[in-house]
Amino acid sequence: NKRETTVIPDEGTSNVDPATRLYPPEYEGHLGSLLISHEEIDSRVQELAQCIHEDYKGTRPVMLCTLKGACPFYQHLLDALQDLKQGYTMEFLRASSYVGAATSGNVTLLGSELNKEDLENRHVILVEDIVDTGTTLANLLPLLQKFELKSLEVCTMLEKRLGDDKTPAAKAKYAGFSIPNKFVLGFGLDYNELYRDLKDIWVISQAGIDFDAK
Ligand code: 5GP
Repeated sequence: NKRETTVIPDEGTSNVDPATRLYPPEYEGHLGSLLISHEEIDSRVQELAQCIHEDYKGTRPVMLCTLKGACPFYQHLLDALQDLKQGYTMEFLRASSYVGAATSGNVTLLGSELNKEDLENRHVILVEDIVDTGTTLANLLPLLQKFELKSLEVCTMLEKRLGDDKTPAAKAKYAGFSIPNKFVLGFGLDYNELYRDLKDIWVISQAGIDFDAK
C-alpha cells in the first residue's frame, strides 16, 4: 500500500552493497552504514507523488520546500508530479531550529520570501526532509496558517521512530520512510553543512562527527 510509510528496520534494509555507492572521496571512513539507497528513495518518491496526485488532481497545490535539507527530495518529487501531469506552484522557506545535533523548540522563518498573495486561499503541501521530534513542524505550521491557506498538509521524506512511548509533536500526512532513532545524513541532510552531497542516506560514524570538529 503506497499510503503506508515504508519502515526501515533498526539494522537497515538496504540489500545494496555500500561499496557500490558513489560519494566524494573525502568522506571515506565517515559514513557509518548505508540506511536507504538512492534507488529506494526514487521508487518511494514515485509512490508519494501518486498519493499527492490522487488527492490534488484538478487543483494546483503550492509545493513549499523547506531549505536546505528538503531540496533533493523536493526536486525528485516535482519531477514525479510532472510525469503524472499534476500542476503545482513552487515556494521556498528557510526555518531554523537545529544547532549541531541537538534540537531546540525555537523556530523562526529566516529571510522568508513568502508572500501572502502567493499562499492565500491555496492548498499548500509543505515538503520536509525529516520529522524527528516534530517540534520544528509543530512550531512552523501555525506560522504558515497565518497566510489564510485553503489547506495545509506535510510531505516528509523521513520520519524518525522515537523511543518508547514518545509521540511526535506533529505528524506528516505523507511520509516516505520511518527510520530508526539515529542521526542520518545525505540526500540533502547535513551535519554542520557537510554530507548534503551524498546520493544515498547513511548513518554517520564517529569519525564523521569528529571530522567536522577538526
Ligand atoms: P524536529 O524538530 O522534528 O526534532 O527536528 C527536525 C529538524 O531537525 C529537521 O528539519 C532536521 O533539520 C533536523 N534533524 C533531525 N534529525 C536529523 C537527522 O537524523 N539528521 C539530520 N541531518 N538532521 C536531522
